[in-house]
Amino acid sequence: MSVNRRNVLLVGGGVAASLAFSLASPNPASSQSMAGPTRWDREADIVVIGSGAAGTVAAIVAKESNASVILLEAQPHTGGHAICSGGNIPLGGGTSVQKKWGVQDSPDLVFQDLTDWSIVEPNGAADYRYNDREIIRAFADNCAATCEFILAHGVVVVDKAPDIRGGGSVGNSLPREMHAAPMDWPLIQTGKPADPANRKTMSTGNGLMQPLIAAARNVGVEILLSHKMKSVYREQPNAGPVIGVSAENEGRTINIRAHKAIVLATGGSTTNVNFRRMFDPRLTEEYCGAAGMPWSEQDASGEIAGMAVGAALWGLANNTGEFGSKITKPGTIGCQYGYVNLRWFPGSEVFDRARATGLKVQNWQDVITVNMIGKRFYDETGGPFSANNYHDVNPYIPGSYLNAQGIRWNSQNYLNAAMAGIGDGHNGGGAIWAIFDAEAVAREKWDPNPPNVDFDGGFCFKADTIDDLARKIVMKYQRVPMPSANLEATVARYNTFVDRGRDEDFSKPGPLYKIAKPPFYAGWATPVLHDTRAGLRINAKCQVVDMNGEIMPGLYCGGESAGGFSLHGLARALTQGYIAGKNAVA
Ligand SMILES: Cc1cc2nc3c(=O)[nH]c(=O)nc-3n(C[C@H](O)[C@H](O)[C@H](O)COP(=O)(O)OP(=O)(O)OC[C@H]3O[C@@H](n4cnc5c(N)ncnc54)[C@H](O)[C@@H]3O)c2cc1C
Repeated sequence: MSVNRRNVLLVGGGVAASLAFSLASPNPASSQSMAGPTRWDREADIVVIGSGAAGTVAAIVAKESNASVILLEAQPHTGGHAICSGGNIPLGGGTSVQKKWGVQDSPDLVFQDLTDWSIVEPNGAADYRYNDREIIRAFADNCAATCEFILAHGVVVVDKAPDIRGGGSVGNSLPREMHAAPMDWPLIQTGKPADPANRKTMSTGNGLMQPLIAAARNVGVEILLSHKMKSVYREQPNAGPVIGVSAENEGRTINIRAHKAIVLATGGSTTNVNFRRMFDPRLTEEYCGAAGMPWSEQDASGEIAGMAVGAALWGLANNTGEFGSKITKPGTIGCQYGYVNLRWFPGSEVFDRARATGLKVQNWQDVITVNMIGKRFYDETGGPFSANNYHDVNPYIPGSYLNAQGIRWNSQNYLNAAMAGIGDGHNGGGAIWAIFDAEAVAREKWDPNPPNVDFDGGFCFKADTIDDLARKIVMKYQRVPMPSANLEATVARYNTFVDRGRDEDFSKPGPLYKIAKPPFYAGWATPVLHDTRAGLRINAKCQVVDMNGEIMPGLYCGGESAGGFSLHGLARALTQGYIAGKNAVA
């Protein structure tokens, strides 16, 4: 065995101990219990897992309270989903930004909004009803302070009044969203800074996370990239404080001692097929293009590590309710990663993993969508699930059942139809394809060639006849061959609807355009999983709670890996990072 650099970086044990240990066990973690390793490689007061919204804030807060902090990040880059995000940040409760624009908010109003049981979506789903009151109270009380914290750490927001542009379930009473401006920071989507004309006005997660990561480094947080946390060590298997974590770096196991606390901020569970199916059995493998991928995963590693030492899950209803953006209609087609607000361009450091930018659909009249057996299943112009925002319920009487008066079931729901499946006994709906022709390409001004579409990966196909197109659709998630007669019949029938000006199957308005001019295309258009709204049980201090309702000493969690809170996105994650960081050092 060779003595490499890592062998001489050990805390306490030294080279000899390292050699002895390594010889006895090439993979130390595999031979030790959750109760801890025989030797620690690194140590810090606070070990934070995940460099996204929650983890980065927690790490800065802890470091500024004079704790030593190690921040582990599984990816070779920082930022998580937060840096991929739209940077629309619904932090309210009386922030300086709200005050500047004359919006009068308060923690009590935030709490009232996010716990109003009476609010329901057009489909009847109640998006605040299952929020844990203790967790929302803590959020409401720390929301404004978190806003001031990020502003004080370099985040610049677009100079305009708060609005509701990109939120989800952010409360009916007031506009709360501010928007992070990218300024001169490079965009991870392109590798280059934004156009100077837009730097102060566009909204992007780059504008939120680039300054926060820089701030973390400036204050002395030690960030270990490509270090994936694998397990949490606890004094006894299901009792006592947590004492450290194991992480994997380039195939080796590193054990890191946490003297005071561990903060799990791993960002949720949408990309772990087995885990996500605990909430919704339909979410099988074909939902392979989660939003935020391939920049980072949401593989439930925080939840799984916490559960392995006794943690409970919490607020699971929030992850099964049909509201918000947990599952979304794709916005781009012909590539694996089709989330509506995120595109990867050559120049991005993850473009080799993304493989294609995708074709952005401006008008769903330009395509039809078909399932694996070549049949249309819905009006393609239909929307995804909705989410409650400021004034969505209008008039609004806080806490009154009268708010539900007048809501109508919104049947224009693309997602349930896409996920209904083909009646072959499988759980997932299977691959969904957008079918279009050369005329659609011209109308949309698409260039359906690499790097815009992913022919090699099997997420886009092209042929001169519909018959050929159906035969060509062979890929991992197309679990049955598409009968070409079906696709031919579907296209022919749709074209008659265009002639007649009436979609007799699904009432698509118009429909406007025939699919007739070769070449023909099939572009991947399968629903996209977006965010997680259930995870580990936490209390008001973001302490993780076990299956007996007991606090697990030293273990904290925030963001999408924590449960009990159905608010989409950044505000929840940033604020819980703030709360967790403060309490972890306390
Ligand atoms: C495309 C997109 C657009 C969005 N737009 C908005 C928006 O405009 N407004 C809004 O409010 N929300 C938005 N969101 C949601 C928001 O970005 C997330 O809710 C938020 O980032 C969650 O924060 P988090 O800290 O929990 O997770 P993340 O920000 O995802 O961070 C988690 C980090 O943990 C790392 N990690 C995971 N497992 C491990 C492990 N085992 N070891 C070490 N590291 C690990 C991940 O690699 C990642 O870096 C958007 C999300 C996406 C993907």
